[in-house]
Amino acid sequence: MKLQVKICDHLKSFDVASIKEKTSYECEECIKAGDTWVHLRTCQECGVTLCCDSSPNKHASNHFKLHQNHSVIISAEPNEHWAWCYEHKSFLEY
Ligand SMILES: [Zn+2]
Ligand SMILES: [Zn+2]
Ligand SMILES: [Zn+2]
Repeated sequence: MKLQVKICDHLKSFDVASIKEKTSYECEECIKAGDTWVHLRTCQECGVTLCCDSSPNKHASNHFKLHQNHSVIISAEPNEHWAWCYEHKSFLEY
């Protein structure tokens, strides 16, 4: 079953041609702490790559809590093409 979610204005203006791709395939906060992660997400505001909510440290959502204007992330996983807005809980596949 697919969730039908309204696409927020952030994701409406999301431009696939100007995506901020991951610069490294690791969570820089987990690396500093010597910790591990499950999946990686890339912030579309500043381009930082951090770990997902299934990871023990949830650095990507912490990043949004600290920087409320950094609400849009994309999956940094290979073969995953989607964006998520933390603020509006909006989801977009591209
Ligand atoms: Zn939004
Ligand atoms: Zn992390
Ligand atoms: Zn950011």
